Parts: sequence; C-alpha cells; structure tokens
Amino acid sequence: MDSRILVTRSSMPSLEEYVEEIKPLWESHWLTNMGVEHKKLEAALKERLKVENVALFTNGHNALECILEALDLRGEVITTPYTFASTTHAIVRKSLTPVFADVKPDDYTIDPESVERLITPRTCAIVPVHVYGNLCDVDAIQRIADEHGLKVVYDAAHAFGVERGGVSAAAFGDASMFSFHATKVFNTVEGGAVCFKDPALYPVLNQWKNFGITSPEDVEYVGGNAKMNEFCAAMGVCNLRHLDGEIAKRGKVEERYRERLAGVRGVRLVDPQPGVRPNHAYMPVVFGDAFGATRDEVFDALDRAGIGARKYFYPLVTDYACYRSVYSSDRTPVAKDVASRVLTLPMYADLALGDVDRICDVVLGCAR
Ligand SMILES: *Cc1c(COP(=O)(O)O)cnc(C)c1O
Repeated sequence: MDSRILVTRSSMPSLEEYVEEIKPLWESHWLTNMGVEHKKLEAALKERLKVENVALFTNGHNALECILEALDLRGEVITTPYTFASTTHAIVRKSLTPVFADVKPDDYTIDPESVERLITPRTCAIVPVHVYGNLCDVDAIQRIADEHGLKVVYDAAHAFGVERGGVSAAAFGDASMFSFHATKVFNTVEGGAVCFKDPALYPVLNQWKNFGITSPEDVEYVGGNAKMNEFCAAMGVCNLRHLDGEIAKRGKVEERYRERLAGVRGVRLVDPQPGVRPNHAYMPVVFGDAFGATRDEVFDALDRAGIGARKYFYPLVTDYACYRSVYSSDRTPVAKDVASRVLTLPMYADLALGDVDRICDVVLGCAR
C-alpha cells in the first residue's frame, strides 16, 4: 500500500449505486447521443445550479470552445494568465486574440481595473476565471461589459456549487463553463457544461457538439464532436446526490488547514469572501518572503515526506513555450508574483484530518 498523500482524490458513489444507475443501459443499448442519463443530468444541474439553460459536453475545454464559437466572437478577448492552459487555448483555438489582464492580490481573480485599461475597439469579450472557486468581482466585470458592449464568459471550472447570496456562480455573465473532470469538486469522470442566459443558444450548442448536424438530412455548421456519453452522465447523476456531503467534508479539511496555518508569518491564505458560500475546491497557500523558505523548498520538503502538492498555477500561461515569444509575464506583475509563490496543498473530501496535520507539520517545519 502506497501511503503517499496525493493532491486530490476523485469523489465516487458506491459501486452498487453506480451499477443501479447504469443497469437500464443494458436494456436500451442507448449509450450516447443525448440519452436518458444525459437528460436526467441536464435537468438535475438546472435545479442544482438554479439556471434555465444548461448544455452538457465531453469536457470543460470543449464546452468553452463551443460557447465562444456559438457567441460568434471576433477580435480581442481580455482574460487572465493566472489559469489552466485550457482557458487561453480555447480563445486561441477559436481564432480570437487573448489580451492578458493582471489579477487581484487578495483572491487571484482578474482585476477589473486592469481589464478596463486593456479595452480597445477590437475587444469583443471578457473571459475571467473563478480561480480556486473564488468568485470574480462579477459586478464590476458586468458594469465594464455593459459599458463597452462586451460578452462575458466565465471559466467557472473551479466554481461548481459556489453561490453568492443564494445566486449560483453559473448565473453570472452571458455564460459560464464548468468542468466535471475527475479532479474537480463535482465530476462525471470527464465532462463539462455551459450555463447560459440566451435560450436561443441551446440548439446551436447542441449542433456544434454533434458535427453541426441540424436535421437528419442537413449539416449547417462545421461542428466538432463533444457529446457527453451515458456512462459519464450516470456518474454525474450519482455524484450530484452526494455533493453537499462532499463539500461539507472539504470544509472540515479547510477548517483544519486554517487552524494550523492562518496567522503564521509569511503565510498568505485567501480570506473567505463575504456572502459567498464556498465549495472548498482547493487549498492555495502563498509563501511570502517573511516565511523564510521558498515555495519550491516547501514543495520539495512535502515531496520528500510523501505528500503531493501542486504548483497551481505555475508557470503563468504567458510563460508557456507556445505563448512566451508573443506575451510577457512582466506585464502582469501580481499574477507573476503569486505564480512564483503559490502551492495548492492536498484537498479532497476524504482527506483525514490527521493527514492535514502531517502536511501542516512539514510546511511549518520549513519556516525560518
Ligand atoms: C479543469 C479546468 C479546465 C478544463 O476542463 P476539462 O474538463 O479538463 O476540459 C479549464 N479551466 C480551468 C480553470 C480548469 O481548472
């Protein structure tokens, strides 16, 4: 038995519950193409996320590409370099030009003032990211978008289950993309969704994810294939039943981390956002100079102790080989600084509090 603590561990229903859910598939032989489980999950998500419009996809990345395509955008898209490759890649793969705004030093989400400075006549949209499940400054972003006639598409991959004043993260902007990848708070093994305001987008999204087929005898779009299959949808149906319990368990883990790490010299934790119900998706810790050890030293010490942390997000997207000849991370100094200092510590529902203590002992042992 490997006693290594990994940075994450996927939530799963019991085998019995899953088998019960997929049994009907052995009678219907309907395995994909918007079957019973697909419909069931879409309906359940509408209820859970309190939104009118949801479309499911093979994964979050395809969902993001698809909504950018469906909104028929052209030109520049203001986004953040402090994210996963997917956000920027989706923009670039849809022939749009990413323009990178800096992030806020308190919660690492996109800085609305920085966004405003980057607007040009070519700007068509803003693609912010609810980093670690921290809600962006959605009000300021919407105000800027309204003023300049821009679309807002949130990368909400981290924000499933997050709510502000009873309104779910899925309800902000023109659309929000969610990822249901195995490592996310809610998973369908691989999967994703778009929640969107304009109901006219539903058929467009569905056609895009099914080769652009509009009727049995015609194809109107040059679409791709991004349909969620029945087995993934069934996993989602099961996992959704247990989501609140899983989030509550993550909350206990975070509470223990905070008890041990809050207030330690040189350790920066993100403060809970007022009025926001969190999903405890990640446990980011930023190491300031006063801590006396660098992020990389802490990472290595954890690794030696058999604990997997993650330099998430490092490097910045603008420092990737595919982007660094065109972009400079010096233009987003806050994002650059955080990326060089951040570690996300292990976080999942079943992480034992004794293991959290072991992790914190190693982290605190690095302090000088
Ligand atoms: C996971 C993730 C994605 C991509 O989602 P997939 O379902 O893996 O395609 C996009 N953006 C962010 C911020 C993510 O964390």
